[in-house]
Amino acid sequence: MASLWFDFVDLIFPRCCEACDKGLIGNEETICTSCRIGLPRIEQDSVFSASVKQKFVDVHEVAGTNSFLLFTKKGKVQKLLHALKYRGKSEIGVLLGFMFGQEMLSNGNLPEADLIVTVPLHKKKLKIRGYNQSDKLAEGFSNATNIPWSGKVLERTKFTETQTGKTRNERWENVKGVFQVNGNMEGLTVIIIDDILTTGATLEACMEVLKNAGCIQFHILTIASTQH
Ligand SMILES: [Zn+2]
Repeated sequence: MASLWFDFVDLIFPRCCEACDKGLIGNEETICTSCRIGLPRIEQDSVFSASVKQKFVDVHEVAGTNSFLLFTKKGKVQKLLHALKYRGKSEIGVLLGFMFGQEMLSNGNLPEADLIVTVPLHKKKLKIRGYNQSDKLAEGFSNATNIPWSGKVLERTKFTETQTGKTRNERWENVKGVFQVNGNMEGLTVIIIDDILTTGATLEACMEVLKNAGCIQFHILTIASTQH
């Protein structure tokens, strides 16, 4: 009976895949099966994966970097991240985080870490968006891997302008002194999770304060990366 009812609801209010807009069928939620399988992955040993590592080559405490999906202009990954950030579709974050965690587990790439921390939004932005997309990714990743997460360790103390269109130096200047750490992080290995990796300046600023609070090692995980 319940299934009939849901089929009926689907008829009246068709639920669509957030990546391809086709109707979802059966037990499909948020992203259809074909998109879940077909979203462009970043292979662990690819040239591109090496270029992600290269961005943090100066930070010795970075033990590893992993990026899940390849971000291309007007592609499905861009559409999903846009819906996550600007259309209130928080469930996309939880799902992508979960898929990322599951795949790292099954590929044997999951790093050993004490805690997952997220890159915070400023309170003003959090109020507008209603949630921090990085928290949603962490929640899903934690559900898949059982590594605990916290969205309260890092705090953003200043409002920054968008990083878009800035040079690497300008981006670094823009985020310097923006974050603070709550609590003692002595001896901890942490995973920092974020939605998209561009220059890495924000993540470097986060690591700087976490190191000062006692963190000894980092793993950088991003759901998507751009090709340059
Ligand atoms: Zn789809």
